[in-house]
Amino acid sequence: MVPGTGARDVIVAGGGPAGSAMAVMLKQRGHDVLLLDEARFPRDKICGESVSPEAWRLLAELGADGAVRALSPHPLRGMAVTAPDGTCFRGDYRGAAHPGFAVRREHLDRVLLERAREAGVEVREGLRVTGLLQRAGVVEGVTAVNGSGPEAARGRLVIGADGRRSIVARRLGLLREHRRLRKFAVRGYWEGMQGLEERGEMHGGGGGYCGVAPLSPTRANVTFVLDRREMSAAGGALEGFYRRTLRRWPRIAERLARASLLSPPRAIGPLALEASRVSAPGALLVGDAAGFYDPFTGEGITLALRSAELATEVADRCLRAASARAFRALPDYDRMRHAATRHKFRFNRLLQVVVGRPWLANAAARRLARRPDLADRMVSIAGDFVPARTALGPGFLLDMLWS
Ligand SMILES: Cc1cc2nc3c(=O)[nH]c(=O)nc-3n(C[C@H](O)[C@H](O)[C@H](O)COP(=O)(O)OP(=O)(O)OC[C@H]3O[C@@H](n4cnc5c(N)ncnc54)[C@H](O)[C@@H]3O)c2cc1C
Repeated sequence: MVPGTGARDVIVAGGGPAGSAMAVMLKQRGHDVLLLDEARFPRDKICGESVSPEAWRLLAELGADGAVRALSPHPLRGMAVTAPDGTCFRGDYRGAAHPGFAVRREHLDRVLLERAREAGVEVREGLRVTGLLQRAGVVEGVTAVNGSGPEAARGRLVIGADGRRSIVARRLGLLREHRRLRKFAVRGYWEGMQGLEERGEMHGGGGGYCGVAPLSPTRANVTFVLDRREMSAAGGALEGFYRRTLRRWPRIAERLARASLLSPPRAIGPLALEASRVSAPGALLVGDAAGFYDPFTGEGITLALRSAELATEVADRCLRAASARAFRALPDYDRMRHAATRHKFRFNRLLQVVVGRPWLANAAARRLARRPDLADRMVSIAGDFVPARTALGPGFLLDMLWS
């Protein structure tokens, strides 16, 4: 990073789950990796903090599963979903090797960043990436600023792992806000919430939805998602807005009646961003930098780890080949990521259609409450260990309509 320093194999911009995972996986394959993050860890991240069972496989691959278990995350054995009319169905992560879990992101992300450091990645915190070094349309590094001024770092490959508003993706002209989805979220932590189980909760209605992730038997992350236009009602007084808005979900509000809000709520939005491609000459995008749709199914962390796994396969192949021509294979990652995610993304879009229409959400919830086998399947697909294509075939849809 100082003038005169030679090029690295890889520069990773962003040290969230995607960036830390990518850095570890590339280091495990023998590459020289520099990871930069504008934050100093532990840092907060607004998130529902429910992690799907499939994440354990990827955490084990990183050698981080032990450290995550040491955080004593709250186990999640499935989901309870409440429709706008109050119909509730429960689904279990049936057949998963491990339950999912809920954990504060400030702890999870610190553990993953520490794992990168331990693996031999050079990690620099407090360094904000501001742009890309490019020659003849090929990315060759990044520019950054820290407390004492600008810097630059050169690398054979740059990984954009810098989250939803990725500067890497934006400088490449690959990221834009979603045309229709204009949602925002507000999150608060509560102590003393009644009725928490080893299960994540999703409550529809109220003009959006509200998620509850139990972080302990009495402590919870309560995050709601609404259309962005409603944010103007906050008028700069977020806590009052958050408390008032929670009354739209009476089943949550009554369980919070004697609970205390642990810290001022925080808001984030607009949530949905689309990336037109996830590779460019000399660069790959992983995690939210490769696009973000909606947090309803709570899969972002697992997807961040999975996208790092896929990108590592392509990056490793390119870095090992001596010639610059090998880097022409970077678009393989676009194809692999599309193949790995398209069914799940279709499933998520279908869910949005249902969630956005209370009459349909009520009807679907009534069916699922009567058919625990289907409820388990839905929840397991959301948990990423049952392929989404099993819910997209005619068999499942017929079951949903005529069971
Ligand atoms: C309201 C909400 C609820 C959600 N709930 C869930 C859930 O329950 N379960 C789940 O799995 N997922 C959930 N998600 C999604 C999940 O939070 C993301 O998918 C996940 O954090 C993606 O990880 P990432 O590493 O790509 O990005 P991030 O976690 O955002 O990490 C990006 C990193 O890049 C750094 N950075 C950013 N810009 C720069 C820069 N210019 N220079 C240097 N560093 C930079 C940041 O400091 C950060 O550390 C939710 C998201 C939202 C918005």
